[in-house]
Amino acid sequence: MKVGGQIRRAQVPFDVKHTNVFSSNHPLITLIIRLEHYTLLHADPQAVLTSVRIKFWPLSGRNVVTKVTRNCISFKVKPVIVNPIYHGRFTIFKN
Ligand SMILES: [Zn+2]
Repeated sequence: MKVGGQIRRAQVPFDVKHTNVFSSNHPLITLIIRLEHYTLLHADPQAVLTSVRIKFWPLSGRNVVTKVTRNCISFKVKPVIVNPIYHGRFTIFKN
């Protein structure tokens, strides 16, 4: 991405200043997002998007990242919350 203004004075590498722009339906950006999602241990879409945008700039990034992370298998498997069984071992104190 080529932009002017204050970005020229930033003390960051060239690749960070001028990231590669991808269309949201490009197959490569889907793979990059999926890899970043796995690398970040199934992080939420905002964390994945922030990490991807360091090197790549997907157009409509929030939508494509949300779509990829929702298709992840871990998103579909919901954790089962088991109620603890007390069996009278604990006493509930009420004032
Ligand atoms: Zn996941």
